[in-house]
Amino acid sequence: MTLTADRATRARETTGGKGQWALGETEPLNANERFKREDDALNVRARIEQTYSKQGFASIPTEDLHGRFRWWGLYTQRKQGLDGRQTGHLEPHELEDEYFMLRVRVDGGALTTGQLRAIGEVSRDYARDSADITDRQNIQLHWVRVEDVPAIWERLEGVGLLTTEACGDCPRVVLGSPVAGISKDELLDPTWAIEEIQRRYVGNPDFSNLPRKFKSAITGMLTNDVVHEINDISFVGVRHPELGPGFDLWVGGGLSTNPRLAERLGVFVREEEVPDVWAAVTSIFRDYGYRRLRHKARLKFLLADWGAERFREVLEQEYLGRALPDGPAPEPTPDRGDHVGAHEQKDGKFYVGVAPTVGRVSGTLLLELADLVESYGSQRVRLTPHQKLLVLDVPRRRVNTLTRKLAALGLEANPSVFRRHTMACTGIEFCKLAYVDTKGMATRTIGVLEERLADVIDEIDVPLSIHVNGCPNSCARIQVADIGLKGQLVKDADGEEVEGFQVHLGGTLGLDAGFGRKVRGLKTTAAEAPAYIERVVRNFVKDREPGERFAT
Ligand code: SF4
Repeated sequence: MTLTADRATRARETTGGKGQWALGETEPLNANERFKREDDALNVRARIEQTYSKQGFASIPTEDLHGRFRWWGLYTQRKQGLDGRQTGHLEPHELEDEYFMLRVRVDGGALTTGQLRAIGEVSRDYARDSADITDRQNIQLHWVRVEDVPAIWERLEGVGLLTTEACGDCPRVVLGSPVAGISKDELLDPTWAIEEIQRRYVGNPDFSNLPRKFKSAITGMLTNDVVHEINDISFVGVRHPELGPGFDLWVGGGLSTNPRLAERLGVFVREEEVPDVWAAVTSIFRDYGYRRLRHKARLKFLLADWGAERFREVLEQEYLGRALPDGPAPEPTPDRGDHVGAHEQKDGKFYVGVAPTVGRVSGTLLLELADLVESYGSQRVRLTPHQKLLVLDVPRRRVNTLTRKLAALGLEANPSVFRRHTMACTGIEFCKLAYVDTKGMATRTIGVLEERLADVIDEIDVPLSIHVNGCPNSCARIQVADIGLKGQLVKDADGEEVEGFQVHLGGTLGLDAGFGRKVRGLKTTAAEAPAYIERVVRNFVKDREPGERFAT
C-alpha cells in the first residue's frame, strides 16, 4: 500500500473530518489555523524588533498581538482592577492592558548563576521586579513593555536563555529532572537529550505550527520528578534487562478541562535515540493531530481515538522506519520528587532544595540568590516542576549556614508540609482568563494552616498537596492534587456572586495515579477556603491509618 493510500485508509477507518493534515484536510478551519498558515508565527520577531518596539503597543495588529506574540513567550496581561465577574464578558482588548507577561523557558530547569542574574536584572530593569517560578520550570515576568522587548532578548540571549516558543502551538519547554547529573539515585542523565532537542527543534519551522501546545518531559530518575503522566510526550528512565539503561516512552497526557493520563507505548528508547523519537512523535502530532476544534486538538484526543497500539505502529512504520524494542515500565513510586531539603550528590557535595512560597520570587531576590550561591562556591541552580528551586554543589560543611541564609531570603529548605506542597497559578493578578486571586489566597491559606494546625502538623508525615487554579484550565494541576481548588464565581450566604472554588479531592501522580474526585456540590468561597481546608486536613489526621496517604 502506498503512503497516500495508507493515509486514505486511515481516514476512512476512524478520524476523517477533524482537520488532520496527513489526510489532506489542510484548509484552515479556524482563526488560529488561518493565522498560523498565513505567516509562520516565528516571523513576528522581526516585526517586534523593527516596528512594534519603535511604534508602540497601538501599532500591533490583533493577529500578532493575540496570536503570534505567544511564540516568543509574550501574552498581554490582565488590566488591573477588573474582578472575576468581568472575565468572559469583556472583549479581549477590554480585559488587557498594554503590558505583557514574558515567559523565559528554562529547559531542564537548569540555570547558571549568570543566567539567574540576567533574569533578575531584566526583572528589575523592565518588569517592575516581578518574577514567578512556574510548575513547568519557566520563569515568568510581568509588566513588560513591547518597547523593551528587543533589549530584554539581547540580555537574555547573551547568556543563552530563550523565550522562543515558550508559549504557542509549538514545543514548549522540555521538563527535565532537577537533579540530572548529580543524583546518587539517577539511572541516567538526560541533559544531553534535552539540550539536543532544544538545539535542533525549538524555533525550527518544521515544528512551529502544531495543532496545539506540545509538552515534553525527560527524567532519568526513578522518582516522579517531571510529572511524566501529564505531558504530551515523556521519556522515563528504566533499565532494560538486556539493553541496559534507557527510556520508557509515554504519550498523550494532559490536564485542562479534559484531563487524561499519558499511556505507555511499551517501547524501549536508547538514550541516543531520544531526539529522533521525540521528533517522530511530534511529527505525528503535527500531521495527524486534530486542527478543526481547538479544545479537541491536544495529542491526548488523537491517542484516545487511536489507542497506544496503533500509535506505536504509526510511529515505527511511518515515521521511524524501524521497530523499537519492547521495554519495561518504570516502577511506580509514591515519591513526588520535589527534592526539597539537603541531599548528598553523587560527588559528595550537597544540593539544597527550597520552597519559595507558591513560586513567587522577585528580580531583587534572584540577584541576591545569585550572589549567595556564588559565595558558597556554586554556579548552578535548578528549577523544579513543583515551583521549587535547588542550589547545587554545596560543600557538606557549609550546608547549614547556606540553609539559614536561604531562609533569611524567604527560601525555606525545611518548610511546613503546607508551604512545601502548595502551588498556585498566576490567577486574577495578571491572567485574563482568571475568575479569582490564587497566589495571594494560597499564601494566606498556608499561613492560616501553619498557625491553626500547629498541634497536628508533625503528624502529617505524607505529602499533602494543595493546588490552586484561577479558572477551569489547569495550569496548577488541580486534578492531581490531594486538595485541588478550581477558581470560579460562587454564591455567598447572601446570594452574592463572589470569588470561590470547586473542590477536587484525592488526586495524585505516581503510585495509584488518578484524578481527584470533584465532590458534588462541594464549593467554597475564597474567604471560607482556609477554614474548609483546615477541616479537611484535621479530619484526615484524625481518621487515617498509619502510613495512609491522602489520595487513598
Ligand atoms: Fe490563568 Fe486559568 Fe491558567 Fe490560572 S489556570 S494561569 S487563571 S489560565
